[in-house]
Amino acid sequence: MRKHISLVLEPEIAFDQENFKNHLSKLLQFPADADAIVRPLKRSIDARGRQVKVNIEAEVFLDETPTPRIEFQKNYQNVSKAKQAIIVGAGPAGLFAALRMIELGVKPILLERGKDVRARRRDLAAINKEHIVNPESNYCFGEGGAGTYSDGKLYTRSKKRGDIRRVLEIFVAHGATEEILIDAHPHIGTNKLPQLVAELRESILNAGGEVHFDTKVVDFIMQQKEIKGVILEDGREISGIGVILATGHSARDIFELCQKRDVLIESKPYAMGVRIEHQQSLIDSLQYNSKERGKYLPAASYSLVAQTFHKGIQRGVFSFCMCPGGFIVPSATAPGELVVNGMSPSRRDSRFANSGMVVAINEIDVLPYKQFGALAGLQLQKELEQKACKMAGGGQTAPAQLVDDFIKQRTSKNLIDTSYQPGLVSMDMLEVLPDFIGKPLQDGLQQFGKKMRNYASNQAQIIGIESRTSSPVRIPRDKENLEHLEVKRLFPCGEGAGYAGGIMSAAMDGERCAEKLVEKYAKS
Ligand code: FAD
Repeated sequence: MRKHISLVLEPEIAFDQENFKNHLSKLLQFPADADAIVRPLKRSIDARGRQVKVNIEAEVFLDETPTPRIEFQKNYQNVSKAKQAIIVGAGPAGLFAALRMIELGVKPILLERGKDVRARRRDLAAINKEHIVNPESNYCFGEGGAGTYSDGKLYTRSKKRGDIRRVLEIFVAHGATEEILIDAHPHIGTNKLPQLVAELRESILNAGGEVHFDTKVVDFIMQQKEIKGVILEDGREISGIGVILATGHSARDIFELCQKRDVLIESKPYAMGVRIEHQQSLIDSLQYNSKERGKYLPAASYSLVAQTFHKGIQRGVFSFCMCPGGFIVPSATAPGELVVNGMSPSRRDSRFANSGMVVAINEIDVLPYKQFGALAGLQLQKELEQKACKMAGGGQTAPAQLVDDFIKQRTSKNLIDTSYQPGLVSMDMLEVLPDFIGKPLQDGLQQFGKKMRNYASNQAQIIGIESRTSSPVRIPRDKENLEHLEVKRLFPCGEGAGYAGGIMSAAMDGERCAEKLVEKYAKS
């Protein structure tokens, strides 16, 4: 017998395998010790009412072999003797492009400026403890890209259900738990991501693909408007049937290279602001309507949006990349810059909840930088990061202010406990941030305080600055074949090119770029 069932249950039943099976045995009237296989399919938390409930869909197999849950089979062909294509950047976009290329019979040459996941760890310790930022190996650069030492949230606004499922199944085939196929808001966690990323690399190597670390691309080999390959920092030249450029939003030198080599780039909208940090217990009590979240519920998250008006301009203020039970991390990519971001371990069990709290940047804001052309937004971003760094002492110590003090424009005499390891210094954040960010932020936070009690109080602090929410630059490509609008055989890909905003969308974009490159250039 096979039964498909949808239920609304208490967390202690929905999140405990044994309790769930017992519950179903009573409901479907099979003995609790029967040889039944209970397989949850979908699970989401509904915290709108007084009592938190869990919506759960499941399949029950009684005396019947279950159909396989996963369609994807890790069975890559050997491509060591096939035609080769170049992928620059081993973030989610680059890694998934490489795996898809292998499936389609092309050998990927994956070039990554940073180190492998293990060696990278030492550089992260140096940023946190000694305030030393290695410009080639940090929270953004290195194997797995910006997604490795992150929260590993795996959700996306994309509506491409089939593609999403496929990427999740590839993660599972490389070691992620099957829970990510079930939960409405799946995440992996920074403690588990490095191993997963290393498994993806092993699949590429085992299939005869190449992965090169400490290998920075510094120039393109171009003939008129066609890319033939790339030039590495040590002078070596590598050619291929096409180039997927998946260098992420922090590879400023790549944007500058595009501008220098007359490869069309455009400025694009983005957002900047701060990280806000609370005690996780406060967020739990607000979201779950109770003092304690108990044993079964995960650390609560939130998502907030407000509209503000300042000097006649309407701006969105919104929470971004919320990390329940997480840590704030220093994610600059060069010395003399200050950039914060957030990550969480798989159990999301730190005492802190943090989230980006950012303001949409308007075209007017970048007007003073118009001499930088398409890099105007990037220049503003860079200057704000440098200013924050300088004001806070030149290392990775970050400027911070209690939230109610920020709204009421009072200096915070004392800051509160933080997860940010390099340390905080109390500062008037309206001096750190330009008015077009600071004022809407004050207004937005006030609005959020009305929705969530104590959210905008002195039980929270803002920490600056959160400036790398997305790329300020787009490398434009054809909508259909994903090739650069002017340069043949060049496939701008992932977040840096402006076509993704997170791990899932970057991975899916990597797959699509690989398909288009192979379709157009591997067949001839
Ligand atoms: P990236 O991941 O940025 O990868 C680009 C790669 O290219 C890098 O490894 C870089 O070293 C390499 N590169 C750059 N220039 C060169 C060059 N010249 N030569 C060779 N290699 C080069 N997203 C989520 O969906 N969920 C999260 O929970 C989440 N948390 C995050 C936490 C942190 C701390 C950070 C920094 C980001 C987080 N993000 C999260 C965002 C997510 O990581 C990115 O959206 C995603 O990694 C983008 O993928 P990508 O492959 O396009 O680029």
